[in-house]
Amino acid sequence: MSARYDALVIGAGIAGATAAALLADAGWSVAIVEKRAFPRRKVCGECVAAPNIALLEVLGIGAAFDALAGPPLERVALYAGEDEVRAALPRLRGARMPWGRALGRERLDTLLLDRAAGLGAKVWQPWSVVGVARRDGWHECTLATSRAGEATTLAARVVIDAHGSWEPAPAADSRERFPAGAADLFAFKANFAHAALEPGLLPVLAFDGGYGGMVVGDGGALTLACCIRRDRLRAARAAAPGFPAGLAVEALLERSCRGVRRALDGARRTGPWLSVGPIRPGRRPLWTERAGFAVGNAAGEAHPILGEGISMAMQGAFLLSARLDERRAALLAGAPQDDVARRYARDWRRTFGARLRWAALFAALAARPRARALLPLLRLWPGLLTAGAIVGGKVRPAARPAGAHRARGPLARADGRDAHAKVTTASAAALRWRGN
Ligand SMILES: Cc1cc2nc3c(=O)[nH]c(=O)nc-3n(C[C@H](O)[C@H](O)[C@H](O)COP(=O)(O)OP(=O)(O)OC[C@H]3O[C@@H](n4cnc5c(N)ncnc54)[C@H](O)[C@@H]3O)c2cc1C
Repeated sequence: MSARYDALVIGAGIAGATAAALLADAGWSVAIVEKRAFPRRKVCGECVAAPNIALLEVLGIGAAFDALAGPPLERVALYAGEDEVRAALPRLRGARMPWGRALGRERLDTLLLDRAAGLGAKVWQPWSVVGVARRDGWHECTLATSRAGEATTLAARVVIDAHGSWEPAPAADSRERFPAGAADLFAFKANFAHAALEPGLLPVLAFDGGYGGMVVGDGGALTLACCIRRDRLRAARAAAPGFPAGLAVEALLERSCRGVRRALDGARRTGPWLSVGPIRPGRRPLWTERAGFAVGNAAGEAHPILGEGISMAMQGAFLLSARLDERRAALLAGAPQDDVARRYARDWRRTFGARLRWAALFAALAARPRARALLPLLRLWPGLLTAGAIVGGKVRPAARPAGAHRARGPLARADGRDAHAKVTTASAAALRWRGN
């Protein structure tokens, strides 16, 4: 008979590791399955918005994050061609750390997964979930490793799909196929040492056919990440014959933005360019009877121009864990899950719906040369950039110290500051999870 768990989490990115940690802390038996060995680099701008720093504290890894992450991001800039506009980033009121900070995904994801393991989640790594079936109130998940022939089956009452959105869904009947189009987006990321970007500044890059961002993160390293349309990528590669795609993109960014040229002058790339794509921002099903609950990018992906994917992954995991835990007894007895799914979907839409729409609008503006006509307006009112960060969710509180609360499991005994953090959250569901 296959090993049985209360919950099985597919993928140990931000969403999966957060959900595994929360459920393990609440006393669920949890398996978390991750196909890649950690630490691993990942395409991402690596900015962690301020509300998530409060959540990392709740998870008991606030101090570790503090020790590693780059400087507080207090200012935003728009770099477009030779132009540059700057503004203040909004503060998260009442937070110990009112601004976001950047931390490489090889460190952040490892911190979170180690925390989930420390709270009791059983880590299957490097294993891939290659199939999910629902039978008699159980999900049967087939796992395989890259070593030929090695496979096993695990059963769980609840499955959380946190596999992201850049690889095939483990429960898909067949690989989704989309016709290739000129507007398909490809994402790139590289890190640089000795770059000349002011710490604490977060430039957003706007160029014909794409957008991007730069930030100084842990160890003073610069992260440069961008999304670029297929047709622009093709043209960039044609302009740099014989070069790998990443180098062609680097050259394009330098040509397109004076701010990038300045930042990379004298910088040294550390590690290769990474790429993924095509990426498909938008909403996906939050639950199906067979595949279970989706969280993070598997549930929905905002255009990365706002850098809110980590927020949606972490905060979505808090929302989902809260809804699951409030129906724990029924779920673990194999009851239907559609009622929990409806509540989670409502929380999700309320929390993230607007973020998806604003991100799509900003992405469209940044990538259109004609939108440069708006630059004089931004020069006149740079506060519009600050307003963009506010509507994009940067200071929407996810959790903040207040009220009476004690974490239920080992999280209650996390480091001194976290141990007695009293938590209320913007969402009633998260409030319930915290036991208020
Ligand atoms: C260019 C770019 C810049 C970005 N910049 C930012 C930013 O600055 N700030 C921000 O907040 N967000 C940013 N994002 C978004 C952010 O990277 C994502 O939203 C975030 O990584 C989603 O987390 P996740 O846990 O849902 O998925 P992922 O981080 O993708 O994790 C999924 C995990 O599942 C594993 N997996 C996949 N399939 C399986 C399987 N079958 N079995 C087992 N394991 C599996 C994968 O190996 C992976 O580790 C950016 C995105 C892009 C493209």
